[in-house]
Amino acid sequence: SFRPARRIGAIGVSEILKIGAAAQRLKREGRPVIVLGAGEPDFDTPDHVKAAAEAAIRAGQTKYTILDGTMELKAAIADKFRRENGLHYESCEITAGAGAKQVIHNAFMATLSPGDEVILAAPYWTSYADMVKIADGVPVDVLCREDNGFRLDAEDLERAITPRTRWLLLNSPSNPTGAAYSAAQLRPILDVLMRHPQVWLMADDIYEHLTYDGAPFVTAAALEPGLKPRTLTVNGVSKAYAMTGWRVGYGGGPRELIAAMAVVQSQSTTNPSSVSQAAAIAALSGPQDILIGRREAFQRRRDLVVDALNAIDGVSCRRPEGAFYTFASCAGLIGRRTHDGMQIDSDSAFCRYLLERHDVAVVPGSCFGLAPYFRLSYATSDQNLRDALDRIANACRELS
Ligand code: PLP
Repeated sequence: SFRPARRIGAIGVSEILKIGAAAQRLKREGRPVIVLGAGEPDFDTPDHVKAAAEAAIRAGQTKYTILDGTMELKAAIADKFRRENGLHYESCEITAGAGAKQVIHNAFMATLSPGDEVILAAPYWTSYADMVKIADGVPVDVLCREDNGFRLDAEDLERAITPRTRWLLLNSPSNPTGAAYSAAQLRPILDVLMRHPQVWLMADDIYEHLTYDGAPFVTAAALEPGLKPRTLTVNGVSKAYAMTGWRVGYGGGPRELIAAMAVVQSQSTTNPSSVSQAAAIAALSGPQDILIGRREAFQRRRDLVVDALNAIDGVSCRRPEGAFYTFASCAGLIGRRTHDGMQIDSDSAFCRYLLERHDVAVVPGSCFGLAPYFRLSYATSDQNLRDALDRIANACRELS
């Protein structure tokens, strides 16, 4: 009979996927479900990017490439890091994989031995913990409280560091909270890391271009050059250029790490799709003005969502600095009852009620390690958002 590997046994099916499946089932039954769970922009990949991919196919760029990215792609990535982040990486300090996700996976596989610890700033993207576990590591959660803007507190970080700590993984702006760090907010965290030379930093910058209110984006290796020799700066084209399906992510870091990550990739997937690499070059090197328009659209949606949520009795929501998620508290609803006597005793119960009775799918905060909250993704049309927020408001009004 089938016997899964021990490392798989430690990983459950994510509740987010279960909610997605439930929403799809209701949709198939004809219910007008609005899903606010997506982690991808609703915009389309820019035309000039598609054209570059078509041209690459016609030009015969359909063969294996250099394992962790063509020289042209690495040059475009190096240029991006220099231009946007003030970071200088040589091509041997750059890697490209099938999404930021593969880059993170490669880094863990290349560095973690059984029992090595990775500090995660909770609430976090649920994949992080499972990616650590698949690499035989131990995720160590440090809670980021709402009264600290869902940001990691430097003292909490320092307390969590042990001799087994290999990495701190920091994601700014954050999925699921949208919290981002200014230079002043990042500084004390980097100071702690400077005192603990065995701890490396993974900066997941995938939402870099989605920061609002004119706040400049800051990445750790640029702010503290002393940390650059042990920082992996992770990014990708998925969220910035609406290219989730193309699967191209990249990282910049010390050459020994990049070389070890290439070993992992060489024995799993080899190069990211040659056509997608050509597309990513066009995205990174082409006109960047689309980023501005999309950022403005997302900021407008953020405000629409935050204002509507805060107008609901029992719900409260801080205005996030970036990404396309709000992480709202439903603490004021806990203990209330639905018409037919269902008790809202947790964020999961609230989300189930929203989906089953009011046709809106959002994700409970408990999925990300912090309750009672719910995550709402505003990567969908303004009309969908307005309708969904009306439904959420009605749903809450019906509770007593
Ligand atoms: N990092 C975070 C925080 C994310 O939310 C996601 C996608 O949801 C990723 C990384 C992965 O992005 P990619 O499509 O580049 O693998």
